[in-house]
Amino acid sequence: MLNTKATYPWWITEPDDIAAILASCKRGEVHTLCTSAGGYEIPYITYGEKEDYHRQANYSSACGAKHPKYYADREGKRRTIMIIGATHGQETEGVCGIANLLTLLETGVDLRGEAVPMVTEAFDALQPRLIIVPIYNMDGRRRCPADSMLGEPHDADGYGLRYYGQGTWKDGTLCGWPQCKMIHPIKDAAGYLGAYYNDDGINLMHDNFFAPMAEETRALMKLIDEEAPECVIGLHGGSNSTNMLLQPDYVPQYTKEGVHNLAVATAALEAERGYKTYVIPVKDTNPGFPPPSFNLTTAIHHICGAVSSTYESNEGLCEANCFGAEEILIRHYCLFAALFRCGWEEK
Ligand SMILES: [Zn+2]
Repeated sequence: MLNTKATYPWWITEPDDIAAILASCKRGEVHTLCTSAGGYEIPYITYGEKEDYHRQANYSSACGAKHPKYYADREGKRRTIMIIGATHGQETEGVCGIANLLTLLETGVDLRGEAVPMVTEAFDALQPRLIIVPIYNMDGRRRCPADSMLGEPHDADGYGLRYYGQGTWKDGTLCGWPQCKMIHPIKDAAGYLGAYYNDDGINLMHDNFFAPMAEETRALMKLIDEEAPECVIGLHGGSNSTNMLLQPDYVPQYTKEGVHNLAVATAALEAERGYKTYVIPVKDTNPGFPPPSFNLTTAIHHICGAVSSTYESNEGLCEANCFGAEEILIRHYCLFAALFRCGWEEK
């Protein structure tokens, strides 16, 4: 289904439609993160006053001084939460969730015209500093001709998840996952450049975070350092897997437990709605060889100390374990409600 919006008018994921929503926002304040490799502005929106966390040191030095409070003293302060959509351009489920969340926060009803008290009541009670980047990989999102993967196959020539996502090699064969990561940046090796990448062929999930290749990475890291969020969730699509929060690698055990707590809180809300759930257990093991990647989710933790996770949503492919559009949206609401209840904390 290339045009999901034609069937579900609330499935809003196109950059121009998101720009229109942002332009109508009054409660939130719209800013520009940076210009993408392809020359497009990447907007983000903030809610709530920015807190003064009495910064004395960067995060690494604060940890060296034996307490993260030297980086951000959160005692008695407003919570700061961040949501990042479409790090991969064909993964539109989270963009749809964000479009509906913004409309909810601004008008009290979502794009379906429905109130979602579990989200709005939690938000109003917490009054967080909330930072949302609706479409982080603007180049990839603009390049993708499909506005969802609902009803699409995983593997097909010229369409489907692999084609739109990871694209093709020069000979026209599908790149696929994870082989698409073997050459990076992939631009010069690609035939059809998938929506995974920015226009320079960089997968923003796997930049060199110590010497960024992409301006998008540099700008996001700077924003995260300035805002010091305590929980950051990147919204992704994970084929037809049951929605889940991935456990981050190379982070302290209490951060892994924070992700687990949030996953449990989200799953409780999903179960109340009759949805099946999946919570990944916390592993306290050395992963050994081959090592997991130090990816964007891990990098975010090491900038600001956040509980940082990748949220993988079901994408509604025409295969086993296919969820419908509305269920995908409501599962995002469960995540947002759990976030606004500070679900990462031990209860
Ligand atoms: Zn992804």
